[in-house]
Amino acid sequence: MSGGDHLDFEIRPNPAPVAAAERAALIANPGFGRIFTDHMVTIRWADGKGWYDARVEARAPIPMDPASAVLHYAQEIFEGLKAYPCDDGGVTMFRPDANARRFQESATRMAMPHLPEELFIGSLHEIIKADRGWLPTDAEGSLYLRPFMFANEVFLGVRPALEYLYVLIASPVGPYFSGGIKPVTVWVSDVYTRAAPGGTGAAKCGGNYAASLSAHAEAIEHGCDQVIYLDAVERKYIDELGGMNVFFVFDDGSITTPPLTGTILPGITRDSLITLARDAGADVREEPYSLAQWREDAASGRLREAFACGTAAVVTPIGRVRSVEGEIVMGDGGSGAVTMKLRQQLVDIQRGRAEDPHGWVHRVS
Ligand SMILES: *Cc1c(COP(=O)(O)O)cnc(C)c1O
Repeated sequence: MSGGDHLDFEIRPNPAPVAAAERAALIANPGFGRIFTDHMVTIRWADGKGWYDARVEARAPIPMDPASAVLHYAQEIFEGLKAYPCDDGGVTMFRPDANARRFQESATRMAMPHLPEELFIGSLHEIIKADRGWLPTDAEGSLYLRPFMFANEVFLGVRPALEYLYVLIASPVGPYFSGGIKPVTVWVSDVYTRAAPGGTGAAKCGGNYAASLSAHAEAIEHGCDQVIYLDAVERKYIDELGGMNVFFVFDDGSITTPPLTGTILPGITRDSLITLARDAGADVREEPYSLAQWREDAASGRLREAFACGTAAVVTPIGRVRSVEGEIVMGDGGSGAVTMKLRQQLVDIQRGRAEDPHGWVHRVS
């Protein structure tokens, strides 16, 4: 794609930031995705011009023409990662280079331009610098970073747009589960699928989430917290949750997770947990696992634990699985001894409390 990899960010500080006392009150109980910082980063792209106008500016509504392409054909991708406060007063991020690469892969699938890794990481540094005061200081808090890009060309024809806007916003977040970690009950839809071969399952695009909302409503109607999707071809194999990857832990200590065949999102948490489990000597298989096998292995006791993982919630034990064929109750009831140990290991690395043998922690300040 055209445009150099280097752009300087023009800094336009918010002239009316939230007052310190109000900010402190907001950060004390942030919830998830409700509160936003004073700034945003924007970068523009146009065909023939490349990336230009990189800015840190006051977070504000984005004026949009009603014929902006994204509003009609959903050419949009996003990322999600966290900045962590360290005990020594510094700030870190976890594997932001992996998010930068995935953002490019999502862009490829949606026929969008690649944001150079240097600009992606640079934008993360800029917002953390501008909104340093919004980082929660408690042991479980973090600053959730949400980079996204969409087609903002004013045109109703169907083709890749010739203009895009990259935006980065930040949101202080507390622990994802305010009442402590509870095992979730997941619903296997016999109506909906998430992604088919050749589709957009491996791209982090808003459209995948839009398509998941009816399935999610169906899950809620059945008393479940989340949807777990089966593969779209045979309707037999576990793919993933609407926004999290899944793992199965067996009585011999081995672990299975569905392979990256293009229909599931290649989670960075997933990749990190596979690495940590292998470091600890566990046999980790990336291979298809069917719902029928899940039922059989849970009944025989061979399957001990199941969990879902992603940046927002890190790791969540799965306690029960419901479908039209009845319920599977996990042998351990979702208490997840191996699950919780893996979770702790990952969180300790992310927060700089444990050694980082793979160089995953990226120091910001
Ligand atoms: C973002 C996402 C995940 C988790 O990815 P992480 O990099 O671990 O946060 C899993 N599934 C879907 C569908 C996602 O969008």
